Amino acid sequence: MTRVSWDRYFMNIAHEAKRRSTCDRKHVGAVIVRDRMILSTGYNGSIRGLPHCNEIGHMMEGDHCVATIHAEANAILQAARNGVRIDGATIYTTASPCWNCFKLCANAGIVRIVYDEFYREERIFRVARQLGLAIQSLEQAEREARRAAAVARTKRVPAAGRLSRGARRTRGSA
Ligand SMILES: [Zn+2]
Ligand SMILES: [Zn+2]
Repeated sequence: MTRVSWDRYFMNIAHEAKRRSTCDRKHVGAVIVRDRMILSTGYNGSIRGLPHCNEIGHMMEGDHCVATIHAEANAILQAARNGVRIDGATIYTTASPCWNCFKLCANAGIVRIVYDEFYREERIFRVARQLGLAIQSLEQAEREARRAAAVARTKRVPAAGRLSRGARRTRGSA
């Protein structure tokens, strides 16, 4: 069995959170992480204590269901309820944030957003660049992590090891 990357591990957990979602127009899950530790999780659902979309139907405005609090917002709120600091954290979300959730993430101090599936809002990428907030698809995140690991490996080769390889080459060419 191949070992999953950290990014995929947390995204898999976000997908698990998504399975608790109660608005079948779109199921989304989110996980907030810092230093490889989960700080909170969320999924989209109704206001606490109110019936769910899948029980009483949606609350439609235009082509959106507005009954639910989105996964990213719920993850931020769960941290707030528990008094967990999320400044400097990464949020993993199964779908890229809507404009409102993006704004919440930015002002909650989230510094990196990793999403699995792209969801309609293009503006967030431009604004993220402006803010210096990293936003990546899971594929991009994994690619960058692999590249960083490869760089770290070359740096770890001891100087003596490099010298002896060089010496072998010199001998071979002579
Ligand atoms: Zn709904
Ligand atoms: Zn949202």
